[in-house]
Amino acid sequence: MTKPTKYVYGFAEGGRDMAALLGGKGAGLAEMTRIGLPVPPGFTVTTDACKVYLATGEEPPELGVEAAQALAGLERAMGRTLGAPDDPLLVSVRSGARFSMPGMMDTILDIGLNDRSVNGLAKASGQERFAWDSYRRLIQMFGHTVMGVDGDLFEQAIAALPQSRLRSTGGAPMADDHDLDVGELMALTEEFKAVIRKETGEDFPQDPADQLARAVRAVFDSWNTERAHVYRHREHIPEDLGTAVNVQAMVFGNLGADSGTGVAFTRDPATGERGMYGDYLPDAQGEDVVAGVRDALPLRELRSLDPRAYVELGDHLRTLERHYRDLCDVEFTVERGKLWILQTRVGKRTAEAAFRIAHDLREEGTISADEALARVNGAELSRLMFPRFDVKTTDVPLAHGVPASPGAAVGAVVFDSTEAVRRAAAGEPVVLVRRETTPDDLPGMIAAQAVLTSRGGKTSHAAVVARGMGKVCVCGAEELAVDPLARQFTAASGAVVREGDVVSVDGTAGTVHLGALPLTASHVGRALETGTATDALTEAVLGALARADSGRRLQVRANADTPEDAVRARALGAQGIGLCRTEHMFLGERRELVEAMILARDDLARERALDALLPLQRADFTAILEAMDGLPVTIRLIDPPLHEFLPDRTELAVRLARTEHPDPHERELLAAVERMHEQNPMLGLRGVRLGLAVPGLMAMQVQAIAEAVVERLRVGGTPRAEIMIPLVGTVEELRLARSEAELVLGEVETETGLRLDCPIGTMIELPRAALTAGRIAEAADFFSFGTNDLTQTTWGLSRDDAEASFFPLYIDKGVFSVSPFETIDQEGVGRLVELGVEAGRAVNPRLETGVCGEHGGDPDSIHFFHRVGLDYVSCSPFRIPAARLEAGRASL
Ligand code: ADP
Ligand code: MG
Ligand code: MG
Repeated sequence: MTKPTKYVYGFAEGGRDMAALLGGKGAGLAEMTRIGLPVPPGFTVTTDACKVYLATGEEPPELGVEAAQALAGLERAMGRTLGAPDDPLLVSVRSGARFSMPGMMDTILDIGLNDRSVNGLAKASGQERFAWDSYRRLIQMFGHTVMGVDGDLFEQAIAALPQSRLRSTGGAPMADDHDLDVGELMALTEEFKAVIRKETGEDFPQDPADQLARAVRAVFDSWNTERAHVYRHREHIPEDLGTAVNVQAMVFGNLGADSGTGVAFTRDPATGERGMYGDYLPDAQGEDVVAGVRDALPLRELRSLDPRAYVELGDHLRTLERHYRDLCDVEFTVERGKLWILQTRVGKRTAEAAFRIAHDLREEGTISADEALARVNGAELSRLMFPRFDVKTTDVPLAHGVPASPGAAVGAVVFDSTEAVRRAAAGEPVVLVRRETTPDDLPGMIAAQAVLTSRGGKTSHAAVVARGMGKVCVCGAEELAVDPLARQFTAASGAVVREGDVVSVDGTAGTVHLGALPLTASHVGRALETGTATDALTEAVLGALARADSGRRLQVRANADTPEDAVRARALGAQGIGLCRTEHMFLGERRELVEAMILARDDLARERALDALLPLQRADFTAILEAMDGLPVTIRLIDPPLHEFLPDRTELAVRLARTEHPDPHERELLAAVERMHEQNPMLGLRGVRLGLAVPGLMAMQVQAIAEAVVERLRVGGTPRAEIMIPLVGTVEELRLARSEAELVLGEVETETGLRLDCPIGTMIELPRAALTAGRIAEAADFFSFGTNDLTQTTWGLSRDDAEASFFPLYIDKGVFSVSPFETIDQEGVGRLVELGVEAGRAVNPRLETGVCGEHGGDPDSIHFFHRVGLDYVSCSPFRIPAARLEAGRASL
């Protein structure tokens, strides 16, 4: 790292494009300062300083002087001195990394209070109780975050106060300046100081400068807490970014009825509905809203409480939205009627809100159609296609809460993070139920299908984090009495739900139901199939897809083996079938015919079996070609090892051993199974090897295809069958297969006098095929990259085994950040794809290229395939809309 010129920036010096250096919060504060919004002044210590600290354990030597200068400037601007005995300046010390990590790191408020300045604050504000409550909060926060004292010890000290003095908050009893008088707050302060002394052998520091320096360091340290690691891991945020620290003059929302604090969004982050949205808590400090200490009011109530502040807030929100050209959220505080904005950022939102907001901003002329497309993504679209609960009017919910993050989830109730993780690891879907969540609940939230809380609104920790993860969440279900110790909750009806009982959580409606409710298709999925919008959301979705379709270069085909899938895929926008597997057509009742073919003792018997299969295959192909009339259908000849069509070896052997008079047919079967047994079937007699080894099999399949094409031609259709040879490693294999196929095609052409026009190509799914793609292209009309097998063979691992055994470990250790079967490994497998495309095209410029592995439907992989210049991706029908959207975004 080259040495930075400085480590401290005043809010007036920074701007929105400096988030890497100043953190998201710092950049936002600077930007708002720059455009004239009312931001309490302050300065930001850069992420560079944090990186030095994290690397060396020491702040950079220049930081002390720079910070002192910045503080002196702040003191001049405020006309007050940090922690001065009379009318002290107080500051907050706020973490803020490049990417928002809500609640993951530390912030300390009211720095500058000590035994003397607390009296100064009391005098200056005219509110003694406020001053002592602030001091009490500082010692508690500082003791816990900076000095490492167990937070419960402070809570216990509070709990030891006479119960009449405390309001139950549903969790541990919590003091509130409304309930404790000055004397009690003073006593509590002494109590807290004693706790710190006892636990650390050290006194709570009285020197304001010392408080500040230690708080800054504590924020640096909070980058490395366990929960911050967990969060970054989950969100794929790099570990080495570090956090910035913002030092900001305090403003007070807890000075009486004309003060308060809140959170506001420029639009509803759950639905995308236009109009400002949020929560307001009168007479409170910032943290109280998120912690759900008291229940916040809907923002609109501020209009009657303080019309001027309300109107001003609305103006600022509009300014911010216009400025950032996107949904913004803010933290704000009203201090005796004066509005201050304390934070802004482009707000997190649900999938539904993402589509609606992008659509509306485009309609309002704020952003272009391309920008609107960039604002949504395939993962969000897939989420909207998830099924929803089929709720009947007779289904009475256990409780109603706030619909904080939409979707439908069913799971067993658990009451703590550990249990959630334990059961989820054992494969049981769970619903995490808490009164309210804290960052410590994060592992459990990740493990759970849904989060349910009895307290807090749409801006509570549970709501914010769940939305960010796309996890179902209902919060503030106040009718529920949650008892984590007894591991049960009680509904208003009196119904008791115990740990392990199954509930259904409807994050769209905000309800909780006992038992597992039936699911129904989402209306977005239906709208995609019919192409008709039925509401604002589906209009937004179809609009985004239309834009994607008009700009994308990659085509999107479907992996479909049945006429039903083909019809569905086509309705969802498939431009053909990229992979039609034929082995599925050999299952069910047809298995016997396959058995007969395998067991055939001579050519005649085999031919007879093949002859019986032929019309069945032909009928399948005809129906699929009809469903995809006019569009290409790539049919892969049989791929898996033949023994997959025979009974299980052990089962058969056991069955035979148990009967006195074994069925001769079964004995024959067992012999065949044993003959065909392979140690490594994945690397065995399959794909083209099988086609070349079993006389007549490939010819039968090609004949079925050819005859299906003929049938379609005769009824005036436009069949576009493509024949695909799997698992080719060398051009010789392809030449042999090709000439056999061409022979059959030629015969059918001669017989019928029709031209069939069936391109013949191959899958590239072995490293050798990719490396010799130039040779293989001599005999291929198209390449289809089979990235599932290519990933297995390139890495030398078996997907079915590895995903269950060591992948979790590898992901945990950071060897993979995501399974290479989910998102293509660009450096390795992707490199082979790139080589294959280049070499193939060099030999055959008209070579068509596509991909048909799971990766064809994965957003990140789609962007890669676009870059390497493939012609199409092919994926399962359900993923087609998302693939279209991502292909469009890749072209932006
Ligand atoms: P987080 O990143 O967890 O939201 P913040 O740094 O935003 O942490 O601070 C936590 C709470 O304290 C917020 O509600 C914020 O508005 C409030 N807060 C921070 N700084 C100040 C300040 N200078 N004056 C008043 N309230 C503040
Ligand atoms: Mg904040
Ligand atoms: Mg394969």
